[in-house]
Amino acid sequence: MANITTDTMEKRILSIENKEDAIVLRQKTAPFDFSRFTKKEITELVRAMRVTMKAASGIGLAANQIGLNLSLFVAKIDRKLHAVFNPKITRFSPDEDEMEEGCLSIPKKYGIVRRSTVIWLTGQNAQGQKIKVKHFGLLARVFQHEIDHLNGILFIDKAKEVYEGKRENGNAE
Ligand SMILES: [Zn+2]
Repeated sequence: MANITTDTMEKRILSIENKEDAIVLRQKTAPFDFSRFTKKEITELVRAMRVTMKAASGIGLAANQIGLNLSLFVAKIDRKLHAVFNPKITRFSPDEDEMEEGCLSIPKKYGIVRRSTVIWLTGQNAQGQKIKVKHFGLLARVFQHEIDHLNGILFIDKAKEVYEGKRENGNAE
């Protein structure tokens, strides 16, 4: 049995500006144990994260951003929803680029972050099956941002400079 209640309602997104939220956001999440959840609970959990991300106009959301100590994130890029459980980046391309990032847990702040343009990733899908994928471009960037979240790392740790307000057409994750 899961010790969390899942439903498909929009959840409150934790903010770095709140001391108690910041502690959660700075913790590395626990592995997602599929044996603790029913299929229905997993479906509802993913749906709740998608609804919350959409309501906040974000393109990515990690479980600890809604207070759940679980290694799971969702991302929606080019109309495709990705829900990745227990993700692990196994290889980063040496080729990097810079792009402005924002974060749903860091209100109004933006910064330019340097990241690999290609990543190789392992993890599990919502059915618990192992996945092994390679991602490029925006998908690679968003996945790196979300996996950082699951390890308690925020974009402000990596940005050369953090500023108020967007300078580019960045997305919030
Ligand atoms: Zn974020």
